[in-house]
Amino acid sequence: MIRLIDIEKVYQTDTIETVALNRVNLTINRGEFVSVMGPSGCGKSTLLSLMGLLDEPSGGTIEIDGRAVTSYSDKELARVRNQKIGFIFQSFHLINDLSVLDNVELPLLYRAGTSGKERRQLALAALEKVGLSARTKHFPSQLSGGQRQRVAIARALAGTPEIILADEPTGNLDSVMGEEIMDLLLGLHRHEGTTIVMVTHDENMAHKTERLIRFFDGSQVS
Ligand code: ADP
Ligand code: ADP
Repeated sequence: MIRLIDIEKVYQTDTIETVALNRVNLTINRGEFVSVMGPSGCGKSTLLSLMGLLDEPSGGTIEIDGRAVTSYSDKELARVRNQKIGFIFQSFHLINDLSVLDNVELPLLYRAGTSGKERRQLALAALEKVGLSARTKHFPSQLSGGQRQRVAIARALAGTPEIILADEPTGNLDSVMGEEIMDLLLGLHRHEGTTIVMVTHDENMAHKTERLIRFFDGSQVS
């Protein structure tokens, strides 16, 4: 469903040029759960942001469902970003002065043709999937780290994405909560067939996924 062909990413500042990705070729098939490992600075976050169409490569081609991303109009791209892709971050990225329910509904506001009632239903269904139906009126500060990450997962799920891109989703959690989040992701993958690409530093978690990709210095090494 996502194919990276000869992808290069160079970050250019006034004085320095950093090659973050160097000729990466990678295919993520529909329904796969893939983990990505590698030392800090090897290009993992860059890889996810390119897959999520948050940034553009310096060279190479990204294909989504067999079609080069460069052939999409801005409007189509916005729709793909908003409807096909869900992001989860290490640091949750929740909005502290919005309730759990409002946080989960937020991305749906950018979706044309979805009524307030539909948004609410999608958000409640997503919160049920992550086991947080009893916390809809809470605020993020009233939740544990594991619960906050569940809210973030619900926010990603509410848009019924085809792929979830997770950047160290358990990196800020203790091992018990980390396991819970990993089990939740494994369950989504198994029961709903969600495609997941997860960056992690945790070998144990990586080995629970179907495919482990290792990066070093901007290139895939295994
Ligand atoms: P990882 O996620 O594996 O830690 P990143 O993808 O964040 O790696 O970064 C890869 C390389 O690109 C690093 O050398 C990093 O310093 C550099 N880099 C990342 N983002 C930027 C940026 N916005 N500007 C300049 N350099 C960047
Ligand atoms: P951290 O390791 O600091 O917690 P995150 O996992 O929050 O980093 O973010 C990982 C990457 O995603 C970073 O390169 C960051 O620039 C990018 N990013 C974070 N938040 C957003 C966002 N809301 N929209 C787009 N990109 C984001």
